Amino acid sequence: MKSITRTITRRGALQAAAAMTTGAVAGCATATSAGPRTKTLFTVAGTTIPIAGSEIAFPVRRIYCIGRNYAAHSREMGSDPSREPPFFFQKPTDAIQNVAPGQVADHPYPTLTKNYHYEVELVAAIGKGGREIAIERALDHVLAYTVGLDMTRRDLQRAMGDEKKPWEIGKSFDRSAPLGPLSLASATGHFTQGAIWLKVNGQIKQSANLDQMIWSVAEQVSRLSAAFELMPGDIIYSGTPENVGPVVRGDLIECHIDGLPEISVRIA
Ligand code: MN
Repeated sequence: MKSITRTITRRGALQAAAAMTTGAVAGCATATSAGPRTKTLFTVAGTTIPIAGSEIAFPVRRIYCIGRNYAAHSREMGSDPSREPPFFFQKPTDAIQNVAPGQVADHPYPTLTKNYHYEVELVAAIGKGGREIAIERALDHVLAYTVGLDMTRRDLQRAMGDEKKPWEIGKSFDRSAPLGPLSLASATGHFTQGAIWLKVNGQIKQSANLDQMIWSVAEQVSRLSAAFELMPGDIIYSGTPENVGPVVRGDLIECHIDGLPEISVRIA
């Protein structure tokens, strides 16, 4: 793991970012319609994710999350894990909580819930935008990866689902998206298989392999880009394996994906 972060030299990160930024600049220029008025009433902080071994940060535009992308998890959520089209929801950008590897970050137990769940997931970061992206070219759009937690107020998510209402209150609350620093795909390769696990207080709770995803990252990028124009700065939570479960204050969560820095949070 250390060797991977070491190989992401500052120069390498700069080159990768510069190559991908060509698209970012073009995208911004066409998307902006504010005109010459540059002063704003107040400043809204942008959200960034550090890139491991680099001074450069990744600016976040949107957070997409795929639901029920491992068969066993789909079953435990009461679904039929047939290969129906993947579905996506979003979290707000500022839900991100950056977690530095080698440290234990305090993660606040949120309000309103009595059943707060972990979901460990591979996160893919988009460096080049596009629409109607072919599966065969989809990974060219993925700049980097990290390990993330899709923290969930399960009781509220279920209640809203039962009433056929949106999931926002269960999924899209403050700091519901802890994640580690990005590792550039140019250094790590793309993640199509490898162990993914999560421990609570030292005990394995979730344990699976990335090759058990129903829809691969490439397929997710392709499908998403048919519904939304993907842009540099978008990230995708690629779904969680089975055995999601609750945590309480004081619990330590450790998250692992082969080839990526591990992250740890303590529920505070
Ligand atoms: Mn999830």
